[in-house]
Amino acid sequence: MRSVVIVDLDDCLIPDGAAARAAIAAVLDEFAIAATEQAVDTVLAAARREWRDHRLVTHREVERVASWEALWADFHDLPMPRETVQALVGNDVRAWRLALHDLGSAADAAQAALAFRRLRRALVRPFPGVESALDSLRERHELWLATDGCRSLQRAKIQLSGLADRFERVFVSGEVGHPKGTAEFTAAVRTALTDGRTVCLVAGDSTTTDLLLAETGGWPFVQITDEVRFVDVPALCRCV
Ligand SMILES: [Mg+2]
Repeated sequence: MRSVVIVDLDDCLIPDGAAARAAIAAVLDEFAIAATEQAVDTVLAAARREWRDHRLVTHREVERVASWEALWADFHDLPMPRETVQALVGNDVRAWRLALHDLGSAADAAQAALAFRRLRRALVRPFPGVESALDSLRERHELWLATDGCRSLQRAKIQLSGLADRFERVFVSGEVGHPKGTAEFTAAVRTALTDGRTVCLVAGDSTTTDLLLAETGGWPFVQITDEVRFVDVPALCRCV
């Protein structure tokens, strides 16, 4: 019998929101635009506008992609109708065009979009201590990862983080076909609990998606916050 720990990815193992802000600031820097907090907010607001106004944003493959993630997600090979893919590709350039306009900059939107992709990828690094915490948990558990978003971006992040081979199973909402926190997503996880596997702990930062996964599964939950980091999780495990 194996005991499983289910782990969230974004803002649990690797930074997401803060990394997006840092990458945006770095782009503004490269284009000689003052990278103030307000300027970063302006870019994020433009990204939100472009993404939320998009009528295809509800397709299940991209349902849980955040507007700042859409700035560097690769939509080309997602299993969606060709016209849906074509409509989504270029979202980043359109968002940057809006953002640069709002910032009063004449910089090239396509170049800004490419710069963001490069700079954002470079920021996919685990939080301090995450590798050793995962290795410690792996001594007595199987590690599964459950993350919301589209398969291309979430799997790229897992690869770039260097953490991929620590996980036996990876559940991405776009692949599962249901968002994390829904009964259907939990059912998909439960179905994979073969050979007497049980879930010891769910760890994640979200009090909606991660907590709901734990609640719908009937599994213990530890919330990752500024005070409780993932590095603390091995000490919170009570199973033997
Ligand atoms: Mg998270």
